[in-house]
Amino acid sequence: MPGARSAPLPVTGACRRPDSAPVTCSRLGADRHGARRPGRARPSARWLLLLATLGAPAPAAAGLGVVATTPDYGALARAVGGAAVEVTVLAKPTEDPHFVDARPSHVVTLHRADVLIESGAGLETGWLPPLVEGARNVKVQPGALGRILGSDGIQLLDVPATLDRSQGDVHGQGNPHFLMDPLNARAVAGRMAEAFCALDPGSCTAYRTNLSRFQTALDERMKLWTARLAPFRGRDLVTYHNTWRYFGTRFGLVTDTFLEPKPGIPPSPPHLEHVIGKMKAAAMRVVLVEPYQSRKTAEVVAAHAGATVVDVCQFPGGLPASDDDYLALIGANVEAIARGLAGGP
Ligand SMILES: [Zn+2]
Repeated sequence: MPGARSAPLPVTGACRRPDSAPVTCSRLGADRHGARRPGRARPSARWLLLLATLGAPAPAAAGLGVVATTPDYGALARAVGGAAVEVTVLAKPTEDPHFVDARPSHVVTLHRADVLIESGAGLETGWLPPLVEGARNVKVQPGALGRILGSDGIQLLDVPATLDRSQGDVHGQGNPHFLMDPLNARAVAGRMAEAFCALDPGSCTAYRTNLSRFQTALDERMKLWTARLAPFRGRDLVTYHNTWRYFGTRFGLVTDTFLEPKPGIPPSPPHLEHVIGKMKAAAMRVVLVEPYQSRKTAEVVAAHAGATVVDVCQFPGGLPASDDDYLALIGANVEAIARGLAGGP
């Protein structure tokens, strides 16, 4: 793109939510870290009035009523639960999981849930607690049998020496994007099966059979994915947000260059200048961008550095033919990244 090489570094573009009208940097900063976003609001009188009309939580019509915060957990729950569960996902695959907009329907969904599956490790800190509080459902309160925390037992990466959110870093407890490592997803699916068995012993055989099928398929795909990315071991991936650390660690790719100066902080022109210089010096050729991030910013950086933008996603449904299918999603990401690193389309 010779014409794009001379494009200025984005200023307003870097501060634009892809799914909304442009906002100023300071406004976005306030949105991302302040208390004005809907996801950070306390349950409103309207929600509470809504709940008053619902009465006590009722058991699901058949099997377990499972609510997952994000589509990756939803896909794993469906793979393990099969016909014995009814899964609802709160966040869309095209939403930033750190900043999901809370809706009254979420409170109603949680009010009726038997199980709530969340990532934990701070991923949903900004939006989930008031929804659960508003739902008034003892089955999914913190510590309840029906509350499944994906991060339990996961070795988190990027854990800071001290917890510090003062500058808006949304990874204050460590990196919560651990499901991008398929072996972490394998372990989480196993814990889901055990939790489902404890809550619904009558379907335990089915849960364990489903789990075995999922894990066998994952193990087979792991061999293919590892082989596909093996030629690129040690190569750099520039990423918008620090989403790909676990993926890179698993497959031998380096992911320590980000368009965000800190996780959750919008890119600034001085930071992007630094990134472009680093990319040129180390011949980094691929910039990953996800659906809810500014593709325009990624394109301008890539154009200045002689790199290519590659569309990826951490959630099933965010890439073509990946609806509700964790393995298809990882496969699509692997293929897109391999092609990008090979210099192809
Ligand atoms: Zn993050």
